[in-house]
Amino acid sequence: MTNLLTVADQALHDSLRTDGRLRYVNKALFPSKAYLFVCGDGHRAEQIEYLLRLMRGQQRDRVIVPHEFTCNGGPLLLAPSFGSPLGREFLVEQLLEAIEMKPDIDSVVLQAHAVCGAAHKRKIDLRGTMLLHREAKAEMAELLRKNGVTTISRIVSTFHFDYGDGHMKTLEFDVDNFE
Ligand SMILES: [Zn+2]
Repeated sequence: MTNLLTVADQALHDSLRTDGRLRYVNKALFPSKAYLFVCGDGHRAEQIEYLLRLMRGQQRDRVIVPHEFTCNGGPLLLAPSFGSPLGREFLVEQLLEAIEMKPDIDSVVLQAHAVCGAAHKRKIDLRGTMLLHREAKAEMAELLRKNGVTTISRIVSTFHFDYGDGHMKTLEFDVDNFE
């Protein structure tokens, strides 16, 4: 089932596009080795394809290492306010184990999307999803700090939009300046 952006969601999206808090991703700066937290929604598989394309940047033969964590809701699960303590615990355990195994991966990509079924089910609108995204990033930073992780130098936040009629876009989201 496809849920579309509401009028209020679309207005928020448009204002963030205008002021640059949602902007085109700079492919040249996008990490090629990263832990990807992205919703596993099979009806939105394009969002994962877009991410892999961003990781390759302009070089089709670039070696990429996408280490994927694809639960319902993606990075939203990391936010305590999302209300899935088991999901959160599972993801944290998985991530910490992966970090031990893969010291060459230097980045985390948190990609939320709209309209996310897991958010929709909880009656969370676009603004709420974005606030959870911000919370997830803060949680990730704290988690890495608390566990003394030194191999991860960047946390990148992206947002995938499905506008309907096959029109989609993945944008960089300036979560730190969203409130
Ligand atoms: Zn989703």
